[in-house]
Amino acid sequence: LYVDHPLAVGQSIPLERDQAHYLFGVMRQGEGAFIALFNSRDGEFLAEVTQAGKRGGTLTCREKSRDLQMPPDLWLLFAPIKKTRTDFIVEKAAEMGAMRICPVSTDFTNSERIRQDRLQAHAVEAAEQCGGTYVPEVADLVKLDRLLADWDPERQIMFCDEALVGAAEVLGAVKGGKWAILIGPEGGFSDAERKRLHALPYAHAVSLGPRILRADTAAVAALTVWQQQLGD
Ligand code: SAM
Repeated sequence: LYVDHPLAVGQSIPLERDQAHYLFGVMRQGEGAFIALFNSRDGEFLAEVTQAGKRGGTLTCREKSRDLQMPPDLWLLFAPIKKTRTDFIVEKAAEMGAMRICPVSTDFTNSERIRQDRLQAHAVEAAEQCGGTYVPEVADLVKLDRLLADWDPERQIMFCDEALVGAAEVLGAVKGGKWAILIGPEGGFSDAERKRLHALPYAHAVSLGPRILRADTAAVAALTVWQQQLGD
């Protein structure tokens, strides 16, 4: 269970109403049960339920069970699409070990608004379900131009588009370090965006194969190839 609270042996953690409902109502846990907690900072702790109520409760950390396992320094940049497909991208990126998830608005992006809190909650659920100790941060929607204006040139970009070289081939020839994957919207990138990205020395245009993948499929495919080549 993810908690936004410092964790240490002996520390008491107050539960919010929805967490209490989930643990005591849905999962039928009660006082004396042990729950694994993580907070993206201190690792994982086994905590005992020391008070269980309908509207809240308290857990007390008894022992540290795992150190924090940070994912590789990989960001996923993607143009939001339909709501459920955007949810899917965030969920899969959290499962696939992205460190940060950045919705970006591009020239042909259809959706100009996202619910950051909703997407962050999806990332929490995904990290919980895959037994992680870290939840990727979901950033607010930002324009691609704006993001690139402040870009750290040490972070390389795997720019997924029509390209002559396959992603595995490009990644196989580089070292690790800081990376971002960039996936376009259903309408693809505009000519101006392509021109700008091709001119960046730290952006590598890559193909994900001969078929045009839907943006959500492309995100999963790109994360898979990156993790296979440079991940852990
Ligand atoms: N008609 C659009 C175009 O001209 O680019 C297709 C966009 S595709 C549905 C959505 C995004 O997924 C693309 O912008 C790209 O980032 C990624 N994508 C899909 N298939 C790909 C492939 N075979 N290679 C690289 N990227 C791909």
